[in-house]
Amino acid sequence: MMAASLLRRDKRSTAAHLKADLQRADNSSGLRQLRELLDAVLDPERGSDPDPEGLDWCKWLLAGGDAFDEFCRTVRSYDNATLCGLVWTANFVAYRCRTCGISPCMSLCAECFNNSDHTGHDFNMFRSQAGGACDCGDGNVMKESGFCSRHRLKTGENVPSVPWDLLLMSEMVLPRFIITIIQYLRDGYTEPESAADRDLQKVLQQLEPHISFLEELTKMGGAMRTVLTKILTNQQTFKELSMGQEENVYAKRNYEKYLSALKSSGLVSVEEKGAGGAGAGTATDTSAGALSLLGATAAASLEDSSKEEDQDGLQGVGQRKRVKLSSSTKDPSIMDTLKHKCFLEELLFWTIKYEFPQKMVTFLLNMLPDQDYKITFTKTFVQHYAFIMKTLMKSHESDTMSNRIVHISVQLFSNEELARHVTEECHLLDIMVTVLLYMMESCLIKSELQDEENNRHVVVNCGEALLKNNTYWPLVSDFINILSHQSVAKRFLEDRSLLLLWMSFVSYFQGMNLNKRELNEHVEFESQTYYAAFAAELEACAQPMWGLLTHCKVKETQEYTKTVVRYCLETLQMWFDAIGFVDEPSLNQLTFHLPLHRYYAMFLSKGVKCQGLDLDSLLPDQEMLMKIMVHPLQIQASLSEIHSNMWVRNGLQIKGQAMTYVQSHFCNSMIDPDIYLLQVCASRLDPDYFISSVFERFKVVDLLTMASQHQNAVLDSEQERPMLEGALTFLVILSSLRIHLGMSDDEILRAEMVSQLCMNDRTHSSLLDLIPENPNPKSGVVPGSCSFEEMLSAVADFKAPVFEPGGSMQQGMYTPKAEVWEKEFDPIMVILRTVYRRDVQSAMDRYTAFLKQSGVNTGNPWPPYKERTPLHPCYRGLARLLHCKTLHIVIFTLLYKIWMDHQNMSEHVLCMVLYLIELGLDNQVQDDKVEEEPCIEEHCHDSWFPGTSLLSNLHHVINFVRVRVPETAPEVERKRERERERETPPSTSSESAAFGQSSRRLTGNWRENLREAQVFSLVAERRRKFQEIINRSNHEASQAVRPKSSSSRWLPPGSPPQLVTEILEIRESMLSLLVKLHQKLSAKQNSLSLSWLAEVDPAHHAHGDGLTAIERILAKAATRSRHSKRCLQDICGKVCPPVPPKKNSPGDKKSMDKEERRQRARERQQKLLAEFASRQKSFMETAMDVGELEYELMLFADLYDLL
Ligand SMILES: [Zn+2]
Ligand SMILES: [Zn+2]
Ligand SMILES: [Zn+2]
Repeated sequence: MMAASLLRRDKRSTAAHLKADLQRADNSSGLRQLRELLDAVLDPERGSDPDPEGLDWCKWLLAGGDAFDEFCRTVRSYDNATLCGLVWTANFVAYRCRTCGISPCMSLCAECFNNSDHTGHDFNMFRSQAGGACDCGDGNVMKESGFCSRHRLKTGENVPSVPWDLLLMSEMVLPRFIITIIQYLRDGYTEPESAADRDLQKVLQQLEPHISFLEELTKMGGAMRTVLTKILTNQQTFKELSMGQEENVYAKRNYEKYLSALKSSGLVSVEEKGAGGAGAGTATDTSAGALSLLGATAAASLEDSSKEEDQDGLQGVGQRKRVKLSSSTKDPSIMDTLKHKCFLEELLFWTIKYEFPQKMVTFLLNMLPDQDYKITFTKTFVQHYAFIMKTLMKSHESDTMSNRIVHISVQLFSNEELARHVTEECHLLDIMVTVLLYMMESCLIKSELQDEENNRHVVVNCGEALLKNNTYWPLVSDFINILSHQSVAKRFLEDRSLLLLWMSFVSYFQGMNLNKRELNEHVEFESQTYYAAFAAELEACAQPMWGLLTHCKVKETQEYTKTVVRYCLETLQMWFDAIGFVDEPSLNQLTFHLPLHRYYAMFLSKGVKCQGLDLDSLLPDQEMLMKIMVHPLQIQASLSEIHSNMWVRNGLQIKGQAMTYVQSHFCNSMIDPDIYLLQVCASRLDPDYFISSVFERFKVVDLLTMASQHQNAVLDSEQERPMLEGALTFLVILSSLRIHLGMSDDEILRAEMVSQLCMNDRTHSSLLDLIPENPNPKSGVVPGSCSFEEMLSAVADFKAPVFEPGGSMQQGMYTPKAEVWEKEFDPIMVILRTVYRRDVQSAMDRYTAFLKQSGVNTGNPWPPYKERTPLHPCYRGLARLLHCKTLHIVIFTLLYKIWMDHQNMSEHVLCMVLYLIELGLDNQVQDDKVEEEPCIEEHCHDSWFPGTSLLSNLHHVINFVRVRVPETAPEVERKRERERERETPPSTSSESAAFGQSSRRLTGNWRENLREAQVFSLVAERRRKFQEIINRSNHEASQAVRPKSSSSRWLPPGSPPQLVTEILEIRESMLSLLVKLHQKLSAKQNSLSLSWLAEVDPAHHAHGDGLTAIERILAKAATRSRHSKRCLQDICGKVCPPVPPKKNSPGDKKSMDKEERRQRARERQQKLLAEFASRQKSFMETAMDVGELEYELMLFADLYDLL
């Protein structure tokens, strides 16, 4: 036999001889000889191990008579590649230059970096995590100026063309070599479930020399890569070799294995289906070449259910049943179809099956500098994309596999031209979104948010491995990568069906990881699912959102924003319907995950800020706006509850959630959009409705009474103070934060930096880590004009590293400049950004120390008030929040309570109240609006204040207030005293005895005071406003009909029989209360003299304590309103009542005030009695709803009790 004789000969001379034969015009004999030789040396039938002899033969044959090394050198000298493309694996040290990079993923190998000029550039050295490749020479990824000297040359400029015979042998031999590798892969593969002795690693080890040889070939440069590309992508060669020749039994059997591997992957060939099984191997060459594989859905779903059992077994207690959707979202042609037409395709198929062996990955990547290969390979990768992700979901080594997948995909998708190409030709976007949906659909459960029983919404189960292990990460990372390309993002934003699919994907995360507050016993085990939930929202929802937003920055892209906003609203509406939401959130439920709200918020913000869109054109009706407000507000209230220890029984993990929500990596995507959305709602909704909702959600409504005692139906006494502080702080944040309401990107970066530096000195790297990513990404192009470094040197001083005697070193730190402490320290921003509560204290301590050191203030300073960037015109309505009666009533009440030393008040409460007043004074609602408003809508249903402007309400005097107090309250006691004093002789008998004597005389007085007395219920107020808005809204079939059951909650809370109604005589205005508080704090009567008032200047009081804050507010009021000034003159000019001897004993003070009050009350009594008769009639006619009537009746009953 010819082959046998060839085999016996020396390899070198055989190769030379064959090469000569093959160069002849008639090379048929040479071809035959070569085939026989290769049949003999590469025959896989010989044994299970690939034969090293075969490999050796191939080397000699390729060299065609030369030594292999020499051959390599020769081929390399014809390298015409203009790209470096050096591939590295994890832990390799590489470089990144942000100045030269076009894509943020750009990276350079050390050699290229050192051979190029990056002086003065923003570059860094990094340790590669998932592996990568050098981009030197690729003008799509980096600027040409950054290419190294070697890769700056144009194609072929200095390289001679390749002699035609140099690679002749390679072209002849390599197809056989590659099919041999494929055949080994087919033979060695066993399904995971079918064999216990499955050892893919062993197969790969045996194949190692062969695959390494391929890799070695790729390093021979462009000439050899061109040959390999031709072979790998040639359809004819694949057709001829894939099934083997007719008589080759081994090849036939081997091919069957390939088909069965396809089948077990849920993929079946067309031929197999038609011929009913085994006949596929004997199909004709032509049809086999065009192998078409269609999905076997039955197999796929069976697989799913077996996996489900498996999972459920592992999940243990507390896990809930998976929900299966009838999969309308999946496109079977994407999920289940594969067609192999060339070696490259089958090679990739096996690469996936073997879960991305490193050697194979390196080989496939090393080929990328060849442009033809790169295009075909990218298409092949996309074609297998769904299959890759399915395999990944089943893998036990998903981490390793993820890294290898991304190692490949980042090379393909970072190139915009290529990404756009496969988006257009291979539907890459459809594939990615479909596969993402497919993944998440495998772990859906019924949502229990709101309506637990009839909830129709489904969410991902964060306890599933897919989420816990971040298995979806490579897919999401690819998606984000391709969305970074303008052309691809545009396609996405223009394709409505894709957008809708995407919204349904996002809705799977809406309301996930629901927390239910444990009220009785400590939770059995601390669920750790929250990290998976936060990671999923950040990576799967927020990052793609930020990617899309970078393409919605100019007027020309307005339409995209409009479309996204519309779909967001539609999807939100569907969500509200599905969870059965009406108007109030369920008690004791909390989810931190509202990606739909946040998409809506961020697209709104971008549209207004950058695209000149009118906010109102993007907003829904009032009813929808009210709904949108509820869940973000619920989170803010819950944050306060968590910090007030109301969630302790849920374990430490709930604090972890609260902290993660505000942490630097998450805040841009979570708390900031939430606050912004609430600001939008506040700027458009009725302010009285908004304010009363806030206090109701924070559960402090009961506390907002002027009575000295009250009952709180929902909070323990020790929780009231922190919850009240939380509510007020939230309102301060809401009305002062300008991140999305007018600040420029530079201003935001500066504010973030200042707040972090004020909390603590920071190293460069920790600061970098603490500054949120958006809108100033740390990598890539900075949108603002200032870079991170420039900003840092503007706000901070550097303290050089200190070497300590022991040899240890204290790192160099950045500390705020003096003028930053003086002018920019913003306690509100610090509060917003603190993860640990102690950081707020730390910032205040540092601030105090600065003031002491610089001699500005030696006392105990309060958080400084800071003026804000003006509101963007679209958001001016936000200021109405500060100018509504409800807020003014609350402020009045709190000032009064603090002055009276009621329980659960604190310095912090006063500080926030003062902050709100000052914000109101600094943010006046425009005059025209103030005038038109009262006509348009009826405001707060009371008569406390005449209008809505804070400036005029400040000096409005409130005379009487009606409160409900326990019988034991001091007010009741005092009144009884008063009554007794008035009666002669004072009755010592029971109250029923006193009744007969005094009823007639007192009724008039009492009733009259009652009529004048202000009464207010926040809950009733909110309810009334809600109805108003609902009635106004055009939805006739008002979906917002309250379910019967919840109506009971709407009544004023409690009213237990032991409460009695009392009328307090107040006769104070906010201004007079402020003056009194000033006296109280300074412990001086007449602490504010007329002369002080004459020379006040608000500008001189930036730093100081509570006194300074009050003075500044009074000064502002006085300078801005003549009326206020006159009132202040009155108040300050009056002889103040003597200051109580003991500051801490309010009781004494009250009893001393009493004397004066009693005197005044008597004087008025006469006047009131005179008016009584005429008013009585109208009093009875006063419009009252049923609740109020009941209230009045009770009131009279109380009256009788008393008398
Ligand atoms: Zn390089
Ligand atoms: Zn280079
Ligand atoms: Zn550079």
